[in-house]
Amino acid sequence: MLIGAHVSTAGGLANAVERGIETESDAIQIFNQSPRAWRPTRYTGDDFAAFREALDSSRVEAAMIHAVYLINCASKQQEIRSKSIASLIHALRVGDGMGAEGVVLHAGSRKGEPQGPSMKRAAQAISEGLAESEGCPLLLENTAGTQGPLGRDFAELAELIELAGGDERLGVCVDCCHLFASGYDIRSIEAVAAVVDQLDSEIGLERLHCLHVNDSKVGLGANRDLHANLPDGEIGREGLGAFLSEPRFEGLPALLEVPGPEGKGPGAAQIRLARELLESGRAERARAS
Ligand SMILES: [Zn+2]
Ligand SMILES: [Zn+2]
Repeated sequence: MLIGAHVSTAGGLANAVERGIETESDAIQIFNQSPRAWRPTRYTGDDFAAFREALDSSRVEAAMIHAVYLINCASKQQEIRSKSIASLIHALRVGDGMGAEGVVLHAGSRKGEPQGPSMKRAAQAISEGLAESEGCPLLLENTAGTQGPLGRDFAELAELIELAGGDERLGVCVDCCHLFASGYDIRSIEAVAAVVDQLDSEIGLERLHCLHVNDSKVGLGANRDLHANLPDGEIGREGLGAFLSEPRFEGLPALLEVPGPEGKGPGAAQIRLARELLESGRAERARAS
């Protein structure tokens, strides 16, 4: 399992690799531009070359992009949708330039509009994004189950993938904090196994390319997206160990998006702790079998 941190690109793309090394990450995730502004960061071929060179000579084995939060592919407003599609295309092209393993996207929010047409609009925008880019996979992230954001359960993610045409570049990123907040219990080895069985039957494990590993400040099914440091939240030590050590997750990038002990994002201590939780989960499995 490639455990790592979401890191900043301040000062240039290649600096993200440096921060990956500092945090002892085997995988990193970055924003391809400021996540709260539409204006894209323009990268050159040299920027991509420097990034790839830094990556190749580091311990970091996988890089992911998280698309910006403003994107709402489901929006009924044409202007928002156009900007969202342009931003999505930009993220996918940057991902291709970087050699990223994928772009993680929150599919969109219906904002009080009916579900069916919102899903169709989101899927249409996603397929346009794929058509205008190549190479880099697009991974839809499960959401915390709050009213509005699409992708609140596996069935909804599967429906989005199908409506978008089922392209083989389409996959999913599963965030354990969102899973738990949207009502999937993952606090034991058996519970995780049942959830992964469900994921496999509804979406297919071959579409799972990335994990987000965050504890949750809110309880099971509370439908709020509040990340807690490991293992200080409601999922806790045993649950995180069970999630991380799930054998069908082996080899995936598993990225932390926690606030960190000082509120500056996941640092080396949280990454080390995630590896300890993985090991304790494996030991627990060995004892149980
Ligand atoms: Zn996430
Ligand atoms: Zn979240």
